[in-house]
Amino acid sequence: MLEIKNLHVKLEEEDKAILKGVDLTVEAGKVHAIMGPNGSGKSTLSYVLSGRDGYEVTDGSATLEGEDVLGLEPEERAAAGLFLAFQYPVEIPGVGNMTFLRSAVNAQRKARGQEEMSSSDFLKEIRAKAKDLQIGQEMLKRPVNVGFSGGEKKRNEILQMAMLEPRLCILDETDSGLDVDAMKLVAEGVNALRSPDRGFLVITHYQRLLDHIVPDVVHIMSNGRIVKTGGPELAREVEANGYADFKETV
Ligand code: ADP
Ligand code: MG
Ligand code: MG
Repeated sequence: MLEIKNLHVKLEEEDKAILKGVDLTVEAGKVHAIMGPNGSGKSTLSYVLSGRDGYEVTDGSATLEGEDVLGLEPEERAAAGLFLAFQYPVEIPGVGNMTFLRSAVNAQRKARGQEEMSSSDFLKEIRAKAKDLQIGQEMLKRPVNVGFSGGEKKRNEILQMAMLEPRLCILDETDSGLDVDAMKLVAEGVNALRSPDRGFLVITHYQRLLDHIVPDVVHIMSNGRIVKTGGPELAREVEANGYADFKETV
């Protein structure tokens, strides 16, 4: 589904290479986790896939179901089925959460050549999904993320993800700053979205999220490259021994 080959990325403003040949394939139906020390390039990988400014791809490729994603505008990437949940979700003052989601869902349907969702279908769907994430009516009406607690923002992102039905979901440090209960809710929300036609890339510094979202494959990133790939046991190895072992393999 997602195929990254020999991806090299540098900062646009300076001659600083950050990704130095990333190779990664995420299959439909699978959850891949990327772990790694701070500064290893995990967020840069998610930013580059989302099309954020400030980075330059100097070599390699990234395709989503055969389509070159690096050549698409950010909104085209979303229409192609890419969804990114970030460590720091944006606040949008003045725009109600439900209104925002409705236009996001309909913009995406339009880009996919589908009809708009009727108000009543939309309401039915968002209420059901919000309930699973313990998001109340009041939170659906408030401006997007404004004054939300850390846990509320993360649950809200999972709601966005559930409503947009992406093909490939990337979660960058979605667990950071969450207490155990909020993290479990987020994990349950993600697990509910696991399906044979959807892939996940879960980026996390710590193993604890992976106790709840059990990955099929775990990759360790260090110094801009994937240096080791294994099963869930690799995450437990990191928990026990830290990243020192992997730094030496670079
Ligand atoms: P991680 O998410 O694994 O902690 P990042 O992708 O955030 O790593 O960062 C990788 C490296 O690139 C770090 O050394 C970081 O300082 C550097 N970096 C990333 N973005 C920028 C930027 N906009 N300006 C300067 N340095 C950056
Ligand atoms: Mg970091
Ligand atoms: Mg990061």
